[in-house]
Parts: sequence; C-alpha cells; structure tokens
Amino acid sequence: MALYKPQTVECNGETFHVYLTEKELRERIAELGKELSERYAGKNPIFIGVLNGAYIFLSDLMRRVEIPCEVDFLKLSSYGDEKVSSGQVTDLKDIDANIEGRNVILVEDIVDTGLSMKYIVDKLQKKNPASIATVTLLHKSEATHHDVQLDYVGFKIPTLFVLGYGLDYAQEGRNLAQIYILDGE
Ligand code: 5GP
Ligand code: MG
Ligand code: MG
Repeated sequence: MALYKPQTVECNGETFHVYLTEKELRERIAELGKELSERYAGKNPIFIGVLNGAYIFLSDLMRRVEIPCEVDFLKLSSYGDEKVSSGQVTDLKDIDANIEGRNVILVEDIVDTGLSMKYIVDKLQKKNPASIATVTLLHKSEATHHDVQLDYVGFKIPTLFVLGYGLDYAQEGRNLAQIYILDGE
C-alpha cells in the first residue's frame, strides 16, 4: 500500500513542501523506540498520547518499543484553527487509566511555546505517578519559553508552521506521511 507523501501539498489555500521525509521520521522513531525499550525494561510503562496531533507518532513509536507497555490518551486544544498558538489550553478529555505509582511516558507531536506540555505535566503530577518522561517528535526550541523538561526530542525545528504526520492545519493534513512546511518559510 502506498503512503500519501507528495512533494508539495495544498492545504486551506496555502502551499507546503516536504521538510522531514518518511524515511527520516521512521529512522529517528526507531532510535527513540530503542532508547525507551532500554530505559523502561521491566517497568511496564504507560504511554499517554496527547490528542489529536500525537496519534500517528505515538502509534509508530509504540510499535518500535519491544517491552510490555500500555497506552492511554488525553485531549487538549490550544491552537484552534490558526497557525499561531492561542495561548490558552482547554481540557477536552482526561486519561481513564489510574497512573498512581506508574511510569508515564508522555507523548506530544510538537512543543512550541511549551505551554501545553507544562500544563499536562503539572496535571499528571497530581495523580502521583512514579515517574513522568516527556517525548516530543518536534521541538521549536527557539519559541519555547515555558519551563518544561523534554527528555526525548525527535527533531529540533525552526519556529515555522508545519503539518502532516498527525499535525493539522484547520483539521486538514493529518494523513500526510511526512512533515511539511509552508512554502517560502
Ligand atoms: P505550545 O503549547 O507548545 O505552544 O503548542 C503546542 C501545540 O500547538 C502542539 O501540541 C500542536 O497541537 C500545536 N502546534 C504548535 N506548533 C504547531 C505547528 O507548527 N503546526 C501544527 N499543525 N500545530 C502546531
Ligand atoms: Mg499536540
Ligand atoms: Mg492543531
């Protein structure tokens, strides 16, 4: 079956081009899976994915983890349908699992200002897990001004809008198999 990975793509009237290829993503995610498998051997970690953006990354990452593990999800909204962060985090769904005493691996698609990640870590800490590690596929490191600890970063990227591989632009583009960036940026 062919993956959906054009060189350029139109989304909401704007043109995007490939920034991280399917191969680059696959290879980096395999490395992250190996590191997590080693660190969490014997610990039965629980992955917590942040919906919607992280669902594709999380599913690929978990299939590279070769130890017993579990998964749950929470859902937040911060970007609305715009290309810049609203600066507000809204809770849309909490996790169902009891994470008290558990080793949590929190998985995000992208950390921009860091507001969402900080908000989620603070919220999960209150549930008394044994540990929380943070994983993000992408990090706009120059834009991050909230105090967040990122334990595993797939790729550092410039402060530019990206889509694909789970990330949307006004809900479109999540099904692209690669990461795309606005033309001219
Ligand atoms: P932060 O709270 O770190 O400012 O933003 C985090 C959230 O904003 C991410 O989880 C993601 O949903 C969204 N976001 C940040 N940058 C981008 C981007 O370049 N493209 C897309 N599609 N979403 C982004
Ligand atoms: Mg996200
Ligand atoms: Mg979004």
